[in-house]
Order: sequence, then C-alpha cells, then structure tokens
Amino acid sequence: MSTPPLGLLLDVDGPVASPETRTVAPALLEDLRRLLGAGIPVVLNTGRSVDFVEGQVLGPLVDRGLPAGARLHAVCEKGGLWTTAGAGEVHLDAELAVPAVCHAVLGELLDGGYQDAMFVDTGKRTMATVEARTDVPASHYAERQRAFDADLAERLSAAGVGVVLGGRSFPDAAGRRPWRIDPSVIATDVESVRAGKALGARRALELLRADGPLPRVWHTVGDSRSDYAMADHLHGSGFDVTHVDVGPQPPLSRPFPVRTVPGADYDAAGRAHLRELADRLT
Ligand SMILES: [Mg+2]
Repeated sequence: MSTPPLGLLLDVDGPVASPETRTVAPALLEDLRRLLGAGIPVVLNTGRSVDFVEGQVLGPLVDRGLPAGARLHAVCEKGGLWTTAGAGEVHLDAELAVPAVCHAVLGELLDGGYQDAMFVDTGKRTMATVEARTDVPASHYAERQRAFDADLAERLSAAGVGVVLGGRSFPDAAGRRPWRIDPSVIATDVESVRAGKALGARRALELLRADGPLPRVWHTVGDSRSDYAMADHLHGSGFDVTHVDVGPQPPLSRPFPVRTVPGADYDAAGRAHLRELADRLT
C-alpha cells in the first residue's frame, strides 16, 4: 500500500451534517465514497454519539458498498468512543465516562421546564448531552441554553461534581474539576476535561497507523473554534496540515494554512470542499 496523498479529519455537525436538519446530503456521501475509493483515509472526529454517526454516515456508506481497502473510522464523543466502518465493534475509554449523577441531573432539569427548547441525547455513553429541538428557533434555544447551563453547573456542583463552564470553575470538595460543561450552537455536553478534538485527532492517528501508511498531508474541516485543535495536533506532530473553517466566524490565524469556502458555510461548504478534493484526487 502506498502513502496516501492526503488524509481527512472531519468534524460532523457543520461540515458534514446540516446544523438545521441534522442530516447528511447523499451527494456528500457519494464524494466521500469516491475519496475512500482513491485511497484517501477519512476519520470523523465528532462530539456526536456512535449511534448518530452510524445512522447518518457510516451505515449509509456501508449500504452503498464501501470501496475495497477503504480506511474509514469514526472517533465519537470527543474521543470517548471509536469504531471502524463496517466492523460493528465499538471501543470505549471508560475513564472519560461522566458520573451517573450527570445523567440524572440532566433529566431533572428537563422535567423541571427546559423541554420547550431541548431534549436529552440518550445515545451518549461517556458524555451527558442535551440537544436543541429542531422545531424551535435558534435564538430561543440560545436564550434557554444560557439559563440551562448556569442551572446545570449549580446542580452538578451541589451534587459534589467538580466542573468548569467557560471561565468559571466549580471545584469539588477536594478542589478538583475533572469535568467540563461545553455549550455549542446545537447542544450542551458534560464531558471529561481530557475529551476534545485534540484527543480525537490522536486516536485517529492511532487507528490509521494500525491499518496502513499514514499520510503526510492533511485537511481538517470544522465549523467551530474547537475544531482547530485537530489541525493544531497534526501540525504539532510534524504533519503538513491545512484547516478548512466552514463556520460563520472569521477564520483564525495559525502557523499553517487556514482556508474558507467563499460564499458557503456549514454543510454547503463541506460539500463544496469534498467535491473539489474528489474531482482533483480521483
Ligand atoms: Mg461542528
């Protein structure tokens, strides 16, 4: 097997799945299939559950028929779980699993009145997550989310769970803060402070080291500030990386190339970028 000309690390919500519908366009799946067929390794690096990724990306690609030798993996829950397309086996890092009380507190808060804006993602195995309802305006969710996050931090702290939320710190009785409340545009996660896109990138490299030659050149694609951590990790490990920022905010400055897709954002930008790559590399 020769060294692939490129490797792809893809955030899912934003560049692959629409943040509005939370679904993946068939045309994008087809371009991913073309890239996999050309020997381009693809690793999804997401905060999503393995169920979501199986349902929206891995399953549909396996159903279409994965090209021979395809190298397609998913690192889910920001590094907590990982799996390989078509393999069926899911690996879990139990040290990243939040205490059971986190799930109980989410349930209590939803029952206490936040169901107008959000629901619990029951597919999560290491994180505890609430997600925005797709039938409420984003502005309403954002407003409710701010109140929810503050209530969540207070309740977890009262239950003896040490957490951080943004710049605020709620240490446990021993002064520790092993858990993080991490709000995004469509969700709030309770997760290990070790979880994140950098850990996902590290696991992605481990998965690809085990199934063939590692590319030297990489594209990372994401819509959030936190997605730059994928590219930071690859750059710090000596790889040649370009980050493709498909989010609505202006791109950040880095010691490696950062690109946007002019005139498009989120999954429209992700689709355009993958189409360009598939046309160039296949
Ligand atoms: Mg995203």
